[in-house]
Amino acid sequence: MEALLKAGRIAASAREYGASLVKEGASAREICEEVEAYIRRQGGEPAFPCNFSVDDVAAHYTPGVNDDIRLRGGEVVKVDVGVHVDGYIADTATTVDLSGRWESLLEAVRGALEAVVKIMRPGISLYTIGKTIEQTIRKKGYKPIRNLTGHTIGRYLIHAGESIPNVADRRLFYRRIQPGTLVAIEPFGTPGRGMVREGSVVNIYSLHTLKPKRPLSDEERHLLEYIVGRYKTLPFTPRWLTTEWGEKAEDLVRALWRKGALHGYPILVEVSGAVVAQFEHTFLVMSDRVIATTLVEGS
Ligand code: MN
Ligand code: MN
Repeated sequence: MEALLKAGRIAASAREYGASLVKEGASAREICEEVEAYIRRQGGEPAFPCNFSVDDVAAHYTPGVNDDIRLRGGEVVKVDVGVHVDGYIADTATTVDLSGRWESLLEAVRGALEAVVKIMRPGISLYTIGKTIEQTIRKKGYKPIRNLTGHTIGRYLIHAGESIPNVADRRLFYRRIQPGTLVAIEPFGTPGRGMVREGSVVNIYSLHTLKPKRPLSDEERHLLEYIVGRYKTLPFTPRWLTTEWGEKAEDLVRALWRKGALHGYPILVEVSGAVVAQFEHTFLVMSDRVIATTLVEGS
């Protein structure tokens, strides 16, 4: 419990710190490296690479070893951070609008998350959560993204198996949040079609298997064992490996991915190219109370 709450506090302040750095001229790498260093200074570890997804990219962008994004001003930026303390995870996100044109979109999606904060309780139906999110976003004239979801969280496990939709899904009427669940709720909204597809950039990976069907070179095997020792099954990025592995880290990671040892997370892009906003909190749902672990620092 102590570790979960500490992870939540660090994640909340890292999120706000990251958002404060989103300015014309700043780069994704500068901001993500600052946010990740901040998490470590506060006594946590990143539970996944800082996600810095811009405009129609909804999720899963983090700078690579060589690729980066510099803000020109006018973008809509999602900062999504994960922190773990001893494997106990907090996952939270916010959106910054540098254009000044999308305040009502941000309000709609922020409002959807706030509505869930008000109704979250043990035994709540996943249908009710999705319906609340969908209605709040639609009332403002936007669409929720229907193929992005919240998720339950386990120790050292960012996705523990249950997905919580951002739309009303009647099939989930009898699926409920059990007491003792840690769950991330993350509405995404857009003026576009409300769907994402995978893009071609992949800078986030996690362990898939230590025994891929295709044989590994000694160097690949050595890196895979390092990754498991350091990150277990949590997502990581080649950027984090360059101090020990140099510039070849990225090529080795890609080889491990191609051979099936790693899982890759491609960027997720809104299908109609429309801007996307996201807000996210992690909730600890107990039999007698609910704690939104990342709901501090006034947001
Ligand atoms: Mn997140
Ligand atoms: Mn999440």
